[in-house]
Amino acid sequence: MGIEEHLGNNILTTTLEKVVDWARKSSLWPATFGLACCAIEMIVTAANRWDIARFGMEAFRASPRQADLMIVAGTVTKKMVPAVVRIYEQMTEPKWVIAMGACASSGGIFRSYAVVQGIDLYLPVDVYVPGCPPRPEGLLYGILKLHEKILKDPFLTQKYREKMETTARRKHGHGH
Ligand code: SF4
Repeated sequence: MGIEEHLGNNILTTTLEKVVDWARKSSLWPATFGLACCAIEMIVTAANRWDIARFGMEAFRASPRQADLMIVAGTVTKKMVPAVVRIYEQMTEPKWVIAMGACASSGGIFRSYAVVQGIDLYLPVDVYVPGCPPRPEGLLYGILKLHEKILKDPFLTQKYREKMETTARRKHGHGH
């Protein structure tokens, strides 16, 4: 049954911005990447019981250049953070970040000089998922919240262009 059977002789109107935002939120591809125990919960969201594929997201990509969602799943050590930031920088724009679990969000139980006390010190986190670890349902709820955020993303607006310019300047070391 196609959409034309519902529409009959009518037409639908929308805006380019709405269509692009809808396509983006419906085809998020996460980078294949995990750091600690939370990653196990992330991995099972791809299994049949939780079925992340329902959202068009089963394609965890092994190359950051094909990914636009980073799920930071696990404890981030100071030693690891350069690799995490590098993966993020190699991902395609526009891109989003979910801090999954207490460790990624705040360092969790590790009040240690060796552990980053929240990945938002290094990356622009869009959604925080609480828990140690969060259940797969928690991650899926966080992803649904991210979908809502993307639908409100100021695509093609002045704010979005400014964000892109700031990112480009940061990459080339001309500002902060
Ligand atoms: S939040 Fe808990 S489950 Fe997740 S990485 Fe930290 S210690 Fe492991």
